[in-house]
Amino acid sequence: MTKIRVRFAPSPTGPLNIGGVRTALYNYLFAKKHGGDFLLRREDTDETRFVPGAQEYILESLKGCGIEPSEGVGYGGDKGPYIQSERVAIYKPYYEKLVELGHAYYAFDTAEDLANMRTQAESMGMANWQYNSVTRSTMKNSISLSKEEVDKRLTNGDPYTIRMKIPRNTDIRLHDEIRGWVTVNTNNLDDKVLVKESGMPTYHFANIVDDHLMEITHVIRGEEWLPSAPLHVLLYDSFGWERPKFAHLPLLLRPDGNGKLSKRDGDRLGFPVFPLDWMSAEGEKSSGYRERGYFPAAFINMLALLGWNPGNTQEIFSLDELVEAFSLERVGKSGSKFDPEKAKWFNQHYLRIQNNDDLAKLVLPLLPADAISTDLTYVANVCGMMKERATFLPDLVSEGIYFYQEIDFYDADTIRKKWKDETPEIMQELILELGAIADFTKENIEASFTAFLATKSLGFGNVGPGFRLLVTGKGMGPSMFEICATLGKDKVISRMTTGLQKIISLKKTL
Ligand code: GLU
Repeated sequence: MTKIRVRFAPSPTGPLNIGGVRTALYNYLFAKKHGGDFLLRREDTDETRFVPGAQEYILESLKGCGIEPSEGVGYGGDKGPYIQSERVAIYKPYYEKLVELGHAYYAFDTAEDLANMRTQAESMGMANWQYNSVTRSTMKNSISLSKEEVDKRLTNGDPYTIRMKIPRNTDIRLHDEIRGWVTVNTNNLDDKVLVKESGMPTYHFANIVDDHLMEITHVIRGEEWLPSAPLHVLLYDSFGWERPKFAHLPLLLRPDGNGKLSKRDGDRLGFPVFPLDWMSAEGEKSSGYRERGYFPAAFINMLALLGWNPGNTQEIFSLDELVEAFSLERVGKSGSKFDPEKAKWFNQHYLRIQNNDDLAKLVLPLLPADAISTDLTYVANVCGMMKERATFLPDLVSEGIYFYQEIDFYDADTIRKKWKDETPEIMQELILELGAIADFTKENIEASFTAFLATKSLGFGNVGPGFRLLVTGKGMGPSMFEICATLGKDKVISRMTTGLQKIISLKKTL
């Protein structure tokens, strides 16, 4: 059986967006699932659109997501070079062959000739003039000109491009693994330029020669390339090469379903559309999932389900589980709406399943410089209490900041609603009660608190909110018994004592 070989072939024209990462992910999953190879190829035939730093960004993004290629740019392999601009000499015999076979031709028209033609056509009411089977006879090319004229121009070194000779009125049928059969009539295609004046092939030509030479079995790419696929299969057929299988992935849509998710949507709508931060040459920053605090596992899990479904209700998948479950048959045809809330939900999940010690290690660098304690057990304890309330790592600190810093803020709303005239006296008595606990464990604090309510005939609502306000400054949070046991008796008693005076005076101002 032929070994499965797939490739991710981005052009270094800017940062890779999440749609690109999803394409890479699906290629990776497909290759791994079938014990195949996953290649990374750089498609940089358009020199004018090259953006410095884009390649490094692509490599770092894939690495960060754990979806690394097994071959290609930065990884080596025996089918290289994997950078198209380094393969110019490789393409030459192939385009010459195509001309020789009569499937392509030399076109000598200058940019000016083409512009004139377009203007002329426009003035005659033809909006989209195309270089095609009908118009090519009126242009300067090796089909319309005599052989002598063509030879003369070639020996003269006249500039030329090479164009594909698209046959007239022919149905091209291609099978897409996701969409089924797609038929396009060649009357809708133009004679695409395959080789530019500079001798550099265009994307279309380089892409199919490389896929052939690199023995790619499956072309898995975004839907935006579907319109190019008929030309590509025509090229394979013209060379007499076996076509790879094609799978065009559905578009990623804006959260409201209105159109394709674009790089401008991200920061405008408040969520990243890039894996990593990116700074454009103009100094415009776009934020990335990594810097926003998303775990790679959450990001990958979320992306995998944007277009593919497992056929059941399972939503949480590790990368290995994705490899196991993935199939092209379960990739949908219609666009997938990106859901920023769901992305957060995944992150929350991945945060919660981590053990407290691991979280503590990740949180240590985020603690304030003057943190009350940076002891790993203390921090792990706090992480354990806060993780139900956190979506991102920094939330583990900010939501429980009272574990790390003294309180400089008391929630006004809670004071207004829950701090009653009798509260100061109850709190005074609670301070005495708690101060008498010898071993300040959460069980002992709970027992003492419960006994306190019973002896004083008080309900939880009369005591709990004031108690929490004094110790944490907040109206809500995890169990007070656990909070107190973690902070320790001295801290609890001193906070309650100083807090009492502060809240009494604050209450007067509210
Ligand atoms: N270079 C194309 C891109 O930038 C690759 C398209 C393909 O996979 O054939 O997405």
